[in-house]
Amino acid sequence: MVVKLDTSLIKEWEGYNGRPFLISGPCSAETEEQVMETARQLAKINNISIFRAGIWKPRTRPNSFEGIGNEGLKWLRHVRQETGLPVATEVANQKHVYEALKHGIDMLWIGARTSVNPFTVQEIADALKGVDVMVFIKNPINPDIELWIGALERVAKAGIKRLGAIHRGFSSYEKTTYRNQPNWQLPIELRRRIPDLPIICDPSHIAGAREYILDISQKAMDLNFDGLMIESHINPDKALSDASQQLTPNDLKELLSRLILRNALPSDPKLLDVLGELRQQIDVFDDHLIDLMEQRMKVSETIGKYKKENNITILQSTRWDEIVKRVMIKGQSKGLSSELINNMFRAIHQESINRQMKIMNNGIENHNHSNH
Ligand code: PEP
Ligand code: MN
Repeated sequence: MVVKLDTSLIKEWEGYNGRPFLISGPCSAETEEQVMETARQLAKINNISIFRAGIWKPRTRPNSFEGIGNEGLKWLRHVRQETGLPVATEVANQKHVYEALKHGIDMLWIGARTSVNPFTVQEIADALKGVDVMVFIKNPINPDIELWIGALERVAKAGIKRLGAIHRGFSSYEKTTYRNQPNWQLPIELRRRIPDLPIICDPSHIAGAREYILDISQKAMDLNFDGLMIESHINPDKALSDASQQLTPNDLKELLSRLILRNALPSDPKLLDVLGELRQQIDVFDDHLIDLMEQRMKVSETIGKYKKENNITILQSTRWDEIVKRVMIKGQSKGLSSELINNMFRAIHQESINRQMKIMNNGIENHNHSNH
């Protein structure tokens, strides 16, 4: 199924305040005072399009603040009445959807811990049938683009037209600088697969710490994301959830003033010419890379046959170690990041192993179809 959407979707949104389409507000609604005061300060920043606050919080461990519940929906309504800002909250089951709709919440988002579960997403989609509300779907916590697209399809199939995606990063076992891995290639692939779908970045949940939010936001803008969802709180250090990643409305204003917004398409035709030429060069190099890869894999297959004939295992870990060390040093001397070298050679090595496995086990001598 193709998710069919209207390109001008968020631009027609009543609260649209230009790019980036900006959603901000606290991680959680805690007290009426905290919600109202955050909203009042945010309303003074002209760029905000939607006020957010979590009412039901999916927390990793029990005994932490799990959200204020239904009462907070009244506070959100109050925000709308007083500041005119449309309001949004996270829904994680049918009951949440009914309660949020009953209170006239303008936008609903499905969180990362919910979008992993097709049963729950389907239930939410069923509750949304025939309703005209804006819905955003966060990426699932695991980097599975089909699951993300599947969730979007379920909600689109329920008839939701004002639909968007939120990129909030992916969890990993390794402890890294960021709380969640951005894996930018996933939202980029999502854009390729569903070009009309608005995509918003949530730098707060990717970063996990306020000092990284500007860099991540800038990157999202440079990748032509439509908007940002950034958590803000009048007193971030005292926040009951996600304290270290929330910004004061003032700090948010300052961050926005530092954000550089570049054009998606250059208006000057001369710039397009230069870009076109450089892109042609890139295509030539990419063709080279593919030709080289073909040659490399042929050698790998020859080695595979040799190993088979001589009863040698495929994986020779000392050899693999040697390769990694050698290419790392070489890559470094050429100014290539160890991340690139690592990813590239891991993929190449995996493909070599796959091909050699095939040769060993199926006796396939040569599965290069161009040689048939
Ligand atoms: C949130 O937006 O506060 C939230 C819980 O996000 P996520 O689903 O991305 O963890
Ligand atoms: Mn949060």
